[in-house]
Amino acid sequence: MNRLYIGGRWAEPKGTASIAVHNPATEEVIDHIPVADASDVDDAVTAARAAFEPWAALPPQARGEHLANLQQALTSRAVQIAQTIARDVGTPLKIATRVQTGLPLGVLKGYAAMSPPQPETVGNSLIVREPAGVVGAITPWNYPLHQIIAKVGAALAAGCTVVLKPAELAPLAAIILFEAIDEAGLPPGVVNLVTGDGITTGESLVRHEGVDMVSFTGSTATGALISRLAADRIARVALELGGKSANVILPDADLGKAVKVGVANALLNSGQTCTAWTRMLVHRSRYDEAVELAAEAAAGFTLGDPFDEATRLGPLISAGQKGKVLGHIERAQADGARLASKPQDLPDRGWFVSPAVLSNVDPDSALAQEEVFGPVLAVMSFEDDDDAVRIANNSRYGLAGAVWSGDEERAMKVASRMRTGAVDINGAAFNPLAPFGGYKQSGIGRELGAHGLAEFLETKAIQR
Ligand code: ADP
Repeated sequence: MNRLYIGGRWAEPKGTASIAVHNPATEEVIDHIPVADASDVDDAVTAARAAFEPWAALPPQARGEHLANLQQALTSRAVQIAQTIARDVGTPLKIATRVQTGLPLGVLKGYAAMSPPQPETVGNSLIVREPAGVVGAITPWNYPLHQIIAKVGAALAAGCTVVLKPAELAPLAAIILFEAIDEAGLPPGVVNLVTGDGITTGESLVRHEGVDMVSFTGSTATGALISRLAADRIARVALELGGKSANVILPDADLGKAVKVGVANALLNSGQTCTAWTRMLVHRSRYDEAVELAAEAAAGFTLGDPFDEATRLGPLISAGQKGKVLGHIERAQADGARLASKPQDLPDRGWFVSPAVLSNVDPDSALAQEEVFGPVLAVMSFEDDDDAVRIANNSRYGLAGAVWSGDEERAMKVASRMRTGAVDINGAAFNPLAPFGGYKQSGIGRELGAHGLAEFLETKAIQR
């Protein structure tokens, strides 16, 4: 693929560099994408600016019809999307179908039916919500389509126009999305695609004066950098960053279920999930039993080819990520943790890491504090509910978490004390209409549902 999508058509890039895209299960190069340079980004922002006023002026229902057409065009490509993400991310096909494809299709359907809030009257003022303008959206590789749709669906429903820079490690679903955008006939310039790396393409977008708002999902380090760049011109930023979420298992919980669901959550997408419950906190009376159950559960996550029906755990995204994760496992053991799980045999090729359950993890150690982004679970013990809350909150992150208890009121009490953007009680289902985002260094703002749409709105007071 050697095209960008600007102003409603596929465009030849001016930038001459390109990036190879790999299949992490085979290490093979499967495609190349162009690196859009500053002038490509300028073309895309100019197109989005030109499209903004007419798009913002459309009645929300008319924007909704465009989004519904896009949703249909995307749905007809569902099989292709799932296979593509299984290839460039390495997500096992079943999960790529259900989570990587089904979830964003559902989220887009929701945004096609959603309008910005109605104006309200306060005294002599009419308070209206208006679209924030041109949005620069920068997304990561772990849930490549979902993270794009969470931004693009909400921004378009709000009346904003968008320039998207998808992650260079897994950009292929974004290209399919723009084929669907082209087929659905969205007005030219409403959504534009600039592929490329962070430094050239990403920074050009963040620095561009025509971008009113930057919506970013990725690492906390890059989020901090983007925040600083955007601050120079007081551009709005929304940030979805890292996490180190705690799964608190109280002594009266159904231990078998809590551990099983907890391990599956930590290992989803090979642990490359920002909300992953990577710290399992278990009451000391049941700690040894929990460690054993967790090691057993991890052994059931068969590593292998993402296209193989039996595979439950794919590779990591890159050789670099594999090295980083192995480094974390080694350092944790040097810091006193014990590897409780038995390493699995690895395929000959591919950036695979065997799932690792580590016990006796010090809550202040690197493994308990740093985001690993790999199939690694740290199991820790606590004395009582206060101690569990203290350990859960002993983190610079605050994205997600879980509580398990036979007593829902007790679980609610612990949940309310956890400084995180979300808490799931007793394995409750993920709700794609609920606000999603972080406290502390996990981010600023919320995505999904009506809160996600509101993120892309300004507020105006008109006095009469
Ligand atoms: P990850 O560790 O998930 O790759 P990053 O935060 O580095 O996390 O990447 C997320 C997205 O941010 C990618 O699309 C990447 O290209 C982009 N990015 C990385 N560095 C920058 C930067 N300096 N400016 C803008 N975007 C960046």
